[in-house]
Parts: sequence; C-alpha cells; structure tokens
Amino acid sequence: MAEQNELMELAKRRGFFFGSNGAYGGTAGFYTFGPEGASLKHNVESAWRDQFTVRLGNDEIEAPTIMPEAVFEASGHLDGFDDMLVECAECGESHRADHLIEDAVEGIEDAEALGVDRVEELIREHDLACPTCGADLAGEPVEDFNLMFETSIGPGSGQPGYMRPETAQGIFVEFPRLKEYARGQLPFGVTQIGPAYRNEISPRRGIIRVREFTQAELEQFIDPEEDEPPLGEVDDVEVTLYPATEQNADDGDYVDTTIGEAVEEGIIGSPWVAYYLGIAQEWYERVGVDMDRFRFRQHLSGERAHYAADCWDAESEISGNWIEIAGFAYRGDYDLTKHGEYSEDRFTVFKRYDEPITVEKAVVDPDMSALGPEFGGAAADVAEALQELADEDPEAFEGDEVTVDVDGKSYTVDTEVANFSVEEQTESGEHITPHVVEPSFGVGRTVYTLLEHGYSEDEVDGETRSYLSLAPEMAPTNVAVFPLVSNDSELVEVATEVSGSLREAGISVTYDDSGSIGRRYRRQDEVGTPFCVTVDHEGLEGDGKQTVTLRERDSATQIRLPVDDVAGELEAMLAG
Ligand code: ATP
Repeated sequence: MAEQNELMELAKRRGFFFGSNGAYGGTAGFYTFGPEGASLKHNVESAWRDQFTVRLGNDEIEAPTIMPEAVFEASGHLDGFDDMLVECAECGESHRADHLIEDAVEGIEDAEALGVDRVEELIREHDLACPTCGADLAGEPVEDFNLMFETSIGPGSGQPGYMRPETAQGIFVEFPRLKEYARGQLPFGVTQIGPAYRNEISPRRGIIRVREFTQAELEQFIDPEEDEPPLGEVDDVEVTLYPATEQNADDGDYVDTTIGEAVEEGIIGSPWVAYYLGIAQEWYERVGVDMDRFRFRQHLSGERAHYAADCWDAESEISGNWIEIAGFAYRGDYDLTKHGEYSEDRFTVFKRYDEPITVEKAVVDPDMSALGPEFGGAAADVAEALQELADEDPEAFEGDEVTVDVDGKSYTVDTEVANFSVEEQTESGEHITPHVVEPSFGVGRTVYTLLEHGYSEDEVDGETRSYLSLAPEMAPTNVAVFPLVSNDSELVEVATEVSGSLREAGISVTYDDSGSIGRRYRRQDEVGTPFCVTVDHEGLEGDGKQTVTLRERDSATQIRLPVDDVAGELEAMLAG
C-alpha cells in the first residue's frame, strides 16, 4: 500500500497531478492534472459516461458553471451550504471547527449536527489548539461559512452570480425543457460531467479536498408512486454496507449482503438508491477500485444535506482513512418544488390517467352585479376567494351567508348571490412533481483511489520496483514501444513502424528510445502502462519472420511474438 506522501511524490514526478500556479507561490485547493493524470481522468469520465449515460439510456447535457443568485436562493444553497469555520487569531489560519471536534473528542462523528454554539463550547471545554501554530482556540468564535464562490455577471455592479457548487442545479433549472425531450414520460435520467466549485475552508490531501473539482452526476426523475427500478439487474450484486444504525457500535458492524437482500430486509429504504448502489459497485470494480477497500456508508441523520431524505456514500479506504468518493441521495421533490415556487416555469409533468375520470367539482358563479357596488374594487378578488372556499369546504355554502377574507378584510356574501353548484367534470390526468434520485460521483477522488489502490511494489531482478496496476481501460497509455537501443537505425525503423500500426488500430502508444531499457520499463510501470513492446536484434536476425518481445506490467514477464501479430494480440488483451 502506498503511503500518501509516496503517492503524491509519484503523482508529481510522473505528471499525474500537481499543485497549480507554482510559479506564483501556489494556490491552495487547486490542482493541475498533468499529461498522465489528464489522460487517466479522461478515461474515468469515459467509463462513467459509458455506464451511466449510454448503457442506462440517459441523456447528457452541459450547462454553464456560473449561475445567477436566484437559482441558489431557490435551491437553498445561499442559506444552507455552509461549513463551520474557526479562525486562529494568532496565525490567521482557518480551520473546519467540526473536523477539529471530531478529531479530538471521542464519540463525536458528526459535529456539524451539533450546531455552531455547541461546537464553540466544545472547543473551550476541550482546550483545542490551532493545528497550524498551536495557539489556543478557546476564545475564538465559530461561524457558518458559505462555500460558494461569488462573482458578478456583467460589467459595473452587474448581477450577482455564483460558481455552481454541484453540477446538479444546471440540470434542475432546465427541467421544463428537459422533460419535453423526454416527451413528458417518467422515468428519465439526465447526466452531466463537469466542474464544480467550493471554497473549502481547509483544502487538504492533494486532490481529495479541492476548491475546483469535477463531478459526474445523474439526476433520475421518477414518479414515486409508480416507477420501480429494474432491481433484477443488480439483485445478486454483493455489497458491503455500513448502515447508520450500526455506526455507533464498537468497531462498526458491516453488513455483507446482496442488493436484493438489502432491499428485502429494509437496510436500504429506497429501491432506486439500492439500484444505483448495485450499478455503482459494478462500475467501481470495472475501473479497478480494490473492492476489499470499498464500502457503502449510510449518512447519519444530522449529516444529510438540506435536500436529502436518505443518503448513502460510496467510500474507499485511502491511507487508512475512509473517504467519500460518491454520494447517492434521495432528493425527493425538494429541488423541483423549490424551482417551481421561485420561478415562472412549470417543474411538473402531466401524468395521464389510464382512463379519464369523472370528478365532482364545486363551482361558484357569483352574480357580479350584486357583488359590484357593495364590494367596490374587491369584487373580482372576492369571487376568486369564494371559488377557493368552494374547493376546500363546499359545506360552507349550505347556510344563507358565506364569509371570505380578502387582504385581511372580511366580506359576507349571500349564498344565492354566490350561485354555488356541484358539477361533474372529466379529468384526463394531473400535474405531478417528479422525485429525484441522485448518484453524484467525484472524478478526482476516483482518480486518486485508482492510483492508491493500484500502487504496488515488488522485486524484479533483485531490485525493488513500484508499479501502478491500473485496469487497461484506465491506463493513460495502452502500450509503450521501444527500440532496444536508440542508435541503431534498423531497430528504430521497425519500432517506428510498429508504433504506427498500433496507433492505426486505435491503441494509444508511447514511443520511447531514451535511457536504458530497464529505466524505460520502470517509467512505464510507474504510470501504469499495461504492455511494452521492444524491438531487439534477436528478433530481426535470420530469414524467418521478424519478432518483438511483449512484456506485461504486473508480472514483468515477456513473450516473443511475430511483429505482424502484435496489434491483434494487444487488441485482444486490452479488451480483457
Ligand atoms: P465532503 O463531505 O467530503 O465534503 P460532500 O458530501 O459535500 O463531500 P457531495 O456534495 O455529496 O460531497 O458531492 C458529491 C461528490 O463530489 C463527493 O462524493 C466527492 O467525490 C466530490 N466532492 C465534493 N466536494 C469535493 C471537494 N472539495 N474536492 C474534491 N471532490 C469533492
């Protein structure tokens, strides 16, 4: 297993990722993916798109990353997307107050749920010190700090805007259009892969907690009363679950079970969430997460985001810590209802009944001339209030008079003037607000997990070597091609030809002729290249077919095969 420092060093040295803006002293919380890292990240995104968009039959969109304030007023992020901050008066460093408590006080796993005042008290009671300079934090206030980056749209004072803290809102606000593409039919799913921004109080652990990161999200819109997921597809998928009820037990009791049983026994409440846990389990396995270092943990009730009714995290074990790499939230109708309330658009779908139904409808048809002079300018509003009352409480019209309030003033109307009646009407359906189930993946945390779980060391030819055992589908490069020595024109010519033919076959190739052959193998091992092809003299000698060696990364074993067979063999091996 890699120590975190070793991996960070390898990531930097081999071009996976490094802190951004180093020339200007660096900017905490921002990382640049180098050539190998960008390629690995791209492969993770492609595999995600293949599973969650293509195979599941969903649609992908790409929305802007800056959105106006009104969106986040409606979504609740403006008010509620906060972390607890405590700033050291001595060194000026900011810290997550809840994390300090969780690290220092045994038995507290979710300090955020305790609220700002209690966390401030706990800092005093436990005499907590600043982790950076050791100064006393007891006298410092704890505040809620909103994590969104604010900006202004347009010149001058402009219009306030925010960098989106999750890709999800870009999907929700376009629901009125997206439902049309889905022809108004539930269930349907919309995906998006793109950057999200959070002004994290203390970014740390390399790319695990950063201020700009990539999310891959799926918003599954369902009719909660009718739509069932195809659970049969994932019934037998084996998972390790860590339900909220078990999390206070000593050592934690994991439940090793299948998705089918977890639903049957009520461990996972929502079948849709269960379905996506099953799909995610298989996907993580496909991309090369070590499933012995992977689990699903249910959120404790105080830990859930403001929109979530139930939430499970996918967690991977990284350097001895469990890190959230994806969240699976049952968001209910929270987001669509809010955008419906705050905007002018309609965030519902029309649900057609199997057969039209006949309903009795209370109707008032007031004699407006009778309401007119006596009621002044309020007549139309009084008529509307009478209809609302008829809808809610038709019995109110049984007496001689009926009273309604308009703008705080009471109006009494003769029931004959109100003209109350009950009519039969035919209805073909109703407008419903879909519920949302959201699998939300962090791409960077997945990349980090693959690096850490893939990192291995062994001994080859009496020397320790480190290598990345990445799944071929994830590896930045499929094959490296080497001439054994660089100053032999024949070897170089054949190696160049081999590279060209592999590239034509759609295989990604690195050509390398610098340094000793041993060094070149080590370099490829460290970036996870699954195969190396070497052109040597032995393979070109004689009258028979020209041959090359093919070396496999993890076993470091080599076979010799004819040049003409290389592309075909590799295609077969890469397809797994
Ligand atoms: P955390 O508790 O670690 O702050 P979160 O619960 O706020 O994460 P979500 O809002 O569920 O995270 O976001 C979905 C996914 O986005 C996470 O599972 C994670 O992989 C990723 N993510 C969230 N915040 C960050 C960050 N600051 N840096 C990198 N990835 C992140």
